[in-house]
Amino acid sequence: MIKGKSAIVTGSTSGIGLGIATALAEQGCNLLLNGFGDQAEIEKLRAGLAEKYRIKVAYSPADMSKPADIRAMVALAESALGACDILVNNAGIQFVAPIEDFPEEKWDAIIAINLSASFHAIKAAVPGMARRRWGRIVNIASAHGLVASGGKVAYVAAKHGLVGMTKVVAIDHANDGITCNAICPGWVLTPLVQKQIEDNAKKAGIAVDAAKEDMLKEKQPMLQFSTPEHLGALTVFLCGDSAATITGTTLSMDGGWVAQ
Ligand code: NAD
Repeated sequence: MIKGKSAIVTGSTSGIGLGIATALAEQGCNLLLNGFGDQAEIEKLRAGLAEKYRIKVAYSPADMSKPADIRAMVALAESALGACDILVNNAGIQFVAPIEDFPEEKWDAIIAINLSASFHAIKAAVPGMARRRWGRIVNIASAHGLVASGGKVAYVAAKHGLVGMTKVVAIDHANDGITCNAICPGWVLTPLVQKQIEDNAKKAGIAVDAAKEDMLKEKQPMLQFSTPEHLGALTVFLCGDSAATITGTTLSMDGGWVAQ
């Protein structure tokens, strides 16, 4: 089902995006990687995936806060890989502060990258998917797309918005062979979360390991991080034949976070 298809995974130079890109590659799916980082490291990753899985792998340096870059990224997937059959909107950033101290430029950046980027990418990719009558859109939202935490006004607003966008796209394209779903992870130990753990440790004057434990205890009944590989496996499932009628929904992978 996925073998020979082509996927864009935004923010795939690190963390969850890299886990998802690798899981799709394992299925024989061509890839367009995207994200920031050291150019030599990214080229090593690109060439390594292409060689190991015998797939086409392109890279776009598109900045997800720039709509023209996003349109160029989708065009590159169509020219270099032949199509964008699977779109995983994953790139995201975080910033934590009470609303009265929340910098306006951080609000704008989080809304642009964590919410508007998905609008621009879906808008550019959907015409090709509809023409081919096959498409899979997977939006990486968050437990924070379903419930809130203090200090995360922009992130929670963006992720709730992304869950809403997921439902609309699913309805608009319900009979075009396209599904659109959101995955809502709880804690996954990636550079994005490691920074929050280190900030919390500094603020509370405790060790990083203790802050890690506290972070899990505060939100998740299951005191265990999900992994990028778990998220990759769920994405592969959503792209497969048995998920053909799953659309417009959220799938939580959060150790029981939103069950409470
Ligand atoms: P990460 O920091 O490890 O990776 C983020 C990726 O996005 C990197 O590849 C980075 O280069 C890229 N990126 C950032 N800004 C970009 C921009 N302007 N343009 C293009 N690429 C950009 O983070 P992660 O934890 O893997 O997060 C991935 C997604 O998962 C995010 O949307 C995040 O909100 C979501 N998420 C993460 C967790 C978690 O616990 N880690 C939980 C729920 C949801």
